[in-house]
Amino acid sequence: MTVQNILTKLVSFPVLGGESNLNIIHWIKEYVESYGIEVNLLFNVEANKASLHCRIGPEVDGGAILSGHTDVVPVEGQEWTTDPFLLTDKGDGKLYGRGSCDMKGFIACCLAVLPEMVKANLEKPIYFAFSYDEEIGCLAAPELARTIKTYYKETPKYAIIGEPSLMEPIVGQKGIYILKTFVNGSAGHSSRIKQEVSAIHESMRLILWLENKMNQLIADQRLDNRFHPPHSTIHIGKVNGGIAPNVIADKAYFYWDLRTIPMDDIKDIVGEFEAYCRKREEELKKIFPGFSIQTTESHPPVPHLDTRADDDVVNLIKRISGNSQLNTVSYAAEAGQFADEGFQSAICGPGSIEQAHRADEYITHEQLQKGVEMLHKLIQELSSETFS
Ligand SMILES: [Zn+2]
Repeated sequence: MTVQNILTKLVSFPVLGGESNLNIIHWIKEYVESYGIEVNLLFNVEANKASLHCRIGPEVDGGAILSGHTDVVPVEGQEWTTDPFLLTDKGDGKLYGRGSCDMKGFIACCLAVLPEMVKANLEKPIYFAFSYDEEIGCLAAPELARTIKTYYKETPKYAIIGEPSLMEPIVGQKGIYILKTFVNGSAGHSSRIKQEVSAIHESMRLILWLENKMNQLIADQRLDNRFHPPHSTIHIGKVNGGIAPNVIADKAYFYWDLRTIPMDDIKDIVGEFEAYCRKREEELKKIFPGFSIQTTESHPPVPHLDTRADDDVVNLIKRISGNSQLNTVSYAAEAGQFADEGFQSAICGPGSIEQAHRADEYITHEQLQKGVEMLHKLIQELSSETFS
């Protein structure tokens, strides 16, 4: 099948993050199996979603994992001029469809090149690792990366995550953590503000603490100029609480996200915040004994990616992508999770992140072709005897 035919098929499965992906994963499984490759599915507890992994080539250490996710973001509320789940070639060099760029385009490249991978005399293996629920917080990748490490007797060396990067090698990614803080105060007439504890007033104090914490990190020169912005960010994106201007709010909550550069530790920042919350609790329980502040995880943390410029994967990705300019990104991807399992990881894939998650998402024929070319070069690299 041509890469475009495969992409058409993949786009036709409207699997959103959080939903069952069994239809698309079974289609991929059958396709890969038709080339004589043994395919493994890794199911979630409810058995309504699965990741796929397989090895092509010899059972020896080394080689590269090709990682992609099968889920996409919703199209609701977006003004599409084409059917989002029907890959549309308007003749303008672009293929339109949800997921065409993020990131079924890369999976289509992998599948289109599979016949050549099978025929090639690979000295080092290639692995496919296709996940689900990436778009709702990279939920399946940790188990998939861990499983690949333990399931195979041999150990893969590299992981290439084919997120849209216009085929530029991405070697750094901020860590991401999304949290919800819930404040439980006491209700009453607004005139009693000194006798009750307003959950809103206290939320605002906590929010300011978080903003000050970010500013302190900047003032302390905790900067990594590979990233834009070069510091860790703390942002409060949603606040809720209160019922009327003259009623003290007994409940309030806010959502915040933390995007950390590799030198800052998510756990340290959250730990400091928690310590401040305990101090506030101690203080305010004197006024209202039931006062409490609770912070819970809204999404599990996505680890940062911090691939060093002299790692072998960087040279590999430069050679096969044809791009030597290294970049970093601030969006979440599964690269940090593969890196956490010890695979040298880099993001590099066809399409532009600017097209991702938008109405009329597209990938150009040219980018798809470049994705295919990169995988051809990967085959050459892994077939040459000098490669280790
Ligand atoms: Zn993606």
